[in-house]
Amino acid sequence: MDKSVVFEIGDLYNNAGLVGFVKVLEQLDKYEKYYEINGDNVTIDKEFLLNANLTQAVFDTYIKTFYKDLKYTKILNEIDLILKQIDENSDLDEIKDLLKEFKNDLTGGNKFKTGYEIISTKIQDENNIFEKIKLITSKQECESIKEDLLIIKKYLIIPEVKEIMYMKDIAYGIIDRFWSDKGFLLRSNAKKNMQESYYKAFEEPFKQQLNNTKVGKNYCSNCLELVNTLNAYTFVKGMGDDFNRKTSVFWNFKQDKGICAKCMFLYSLIPLGFIKNGRDFIFINNNTSVDALINMNNLKLTEENSNISRNQIYNHIISRYLKTNENKLDNIEVANVYGNEEKYNLDIINRYQLQLIRDSEKDLEFLSKGYVVRINGDYVNIYQEVTDAIIRNKNLYTILNKIIEASIKDKDNSYLVRLMNPILNIEIHKEKIIREDENMDKEFYFAGKQGASLLFKMKATGQDDSYVIGITYKLLNALKKENIDDFLDVVMRLCNSLKTDMPTCFINHMHDKKMFKKIGYAFLTGLRGGIYNKENKEGGNNE
Ligand SMILES: [Zn+2]
Repeated sequence: MDKSVVFEIGDLYNNAGLVGFVKVLEQLDKYEKYYEINGDNVTIDKEFLLNANLTQAVFDTYIKTFYKDLKYTKILNEIDLILKQIDENSDLDEIKDLLKEFKNDLTGGNKFKTGYEIISTKIQDENNIFEKIKLITSKQECESIKEDLLIIKKYLIIPEVKEIMYMKDIAYGIIDRFWSDKGFLLRSNAKKNMQESYYKAFEEPFKQQLNNTKVGKNYCSNCLELVNTLNAYTFVKGMGDDFNRKTSVFWNFKQDKGICAKCMFLYSLIPLGFIKNGRDFIFINNNTSVDALINMNNLKLTEENSNISRNQIYNHIISRYLKTNENKLDNIEVANVYGNEEKYNLDIINRYQLQLIRDSEKDLEFLSKGYVVRINGDYVNIYQEVTDAIIRNKNLYTILNKIIEASIKDKDNSYLVRLMNPILNIEIHKEKIIREDENMDKEFYFAGKQGASLLFKMKATGQDDSYVIGITYKLLNALKKENIDDFLDVVMRLCNSLKTDMPTCFINHMHDKKMFKKIGYAFLTGLRGGIYNKENKEGGNNE
């Protein structure tokens, strides 16, 4: 008999469950003796698993992961706030407003009421707390309100009471976004002991399967193990939805007959794998390793920053990806569950984008040093704009144009020229990947140098800034319109007036608008004083 239990990387649902399960294991096994994470799997000592109180660990992990953001936490804080107001002799009306909110939070919905019904069969409540709460807003005496609040608080913070209330809060609002109609989320179980319901639905069948030594006849459609009993996976939201599964890049066209009890247990942990971001949930899925999955999804949102933008999430993905040092390029799938929706919205970051991110590491690092730039009255975070453009497959010229224009319009913005080079570099990396040409850098470097040499000559002949700016504008407009003739016309006139030869950097690209544009921007970068750096060792920093 095998002495260990192995969970492997799989599709989105499996992987979110696996990240959740590792959190449960951390909770269970603080010394990391009984489980190991190796590459694409997690291996756990079977005896350890069989003897563990999984249900308790799952409940503890759910509470630990989500308690900060829960209504029940808010309710407990409200009591403290009201008590403080009473001690500070605040206005009675003000206190009554707070009491109303507190009462509504606790008794407004059904979840805490049923939670209370469950717990009151276990923990005697001779004070009849819920009755007290209902009557508290009609009280006129602060002392009497305080007395009641202290009694209510005492009951609500009993660990067993807290556990049920927290779990009710998590079940309705977090877990039910991902699965339902099973365990404590089965309607007929609403007033029953939550731990028992979970145990019967998930832990017990899982352990029975582990104890079963006979090889079964049915393949589990998730882990492909042969088992005796298959279970429906319809309790997992979005999963029966074929469209959703097939759009996932990691869906392997498995036979969809049912899942084993081990996978059923794993799926009960899907919500634990997700990052909660305000009302949304995000899971970052890639198939390189369990460690990569854990790292990618370990996004600690601070209290001030409990709700972050999509953009910031992509920044996080990119920086985590760069830190992994993984050279295996596998698609990254980002699963978003928005607002009240129950379906997964998938974004894919493909291999090409990942390679671009990897190749542009130095430039991105330079840009990530926080350039928030004021352009036309708006504050623009250049790094976020750039990463967003990469993820959305947009070109970077719009950002480049904004920077050039801002650097021209306002003398205080002239330092922005330093940002042109790293941004252009990323555009060039793109071209290198597409054309599989490693030597393209030389040409861009050359174009940048020729631009810089014209700038030098303009200054040497005593041309003032406004003249240089005029030329820049004309060149930029030609590039925006992709008008090669206009661009060359401006360069030619400039060369004539400076009595110098026409730059040669454009000669090979007269019939390729795309390349001409890139060369043109490199030339312009040089002309603005931000010469293209062939070595590219310092990211974009080359003054
Ligand atoms: Zn299975």
